[in-house]
Amino acid sequence: MIPDRPTLPSIRDAAVDCRACDLYKRGTQTVFGEGGRTAQVVLIGEQPGNDEDLSGHPFVGPAGKLLDRALESAGIDRAVCYVTNVVKHFKWEPRGKRRIHKKPSASEIAACRPWLDTEIELLKPRVIVCLGATAAQALLGRTFRVTAHRGEAVPSPLAPVVIATVHPSSILRAPDDESRREEMRRFTDDLRKVRNALSSK
Ligand code: SF4
Repeated sequence: MIPDRPTLPSIRDAAVDCRACDLYKRGTQTVFGEGGRTAQVVLIGEQPGNDEDLSGHPFVGPAGKLLDRALESAGIDRAVCYVTNVVKHFKWEPRGKRRIHKKPSASEIAACRPWLDTEIELLKPRVIVCLGATAAQALLGRTFRVTAHRGEAVPSPLAPVVIATVHPSSILRAPDDESRREEMRRFTDDLRKVRNALSSK
């Protein structure tokens, strides 16, 4: 479904009708990446959440707002960022009246990968940030452990600097205020490495 001479607007339009895996049946709509055409940093999460599914925009829910705050604290201008996900439809299961996030399968991640690869190819970012294990393992290999290597620059053909850290939603799930503050501090520290990578070139 990737157009012959892809551009960000043309692949976004094409992805609206994607049926490459069954997730289109469950999600409200395709939630494609968003950000400036000249973005220097591409931040990649797992999949859209409930708010993103309903609005059609990535990282607009509570985790996205936390990401915005951490980027600001780290001194990264949101205007140089592009945010996207490895899977572009919301996978969920019902729990009462709520729709609960369900991790995408390896085959769903593989089916959606051409969209992400084309986004990266078109943007040619200086830095890629994998947010959480699903994105990190999709891009850096199944054995990659965010807990062991968060904030480290990982050699990759995808961009001059590739870093993995936690997904902001994991900070929201911290058991108490103190651990949430500590997790936010560590997340912001990881993003400062992104800012340093941007200013060192
Ligand atoms: S999740 Fe990705 S591959 Fe599957 S239907 Fe949606 S856009 Fe297509």
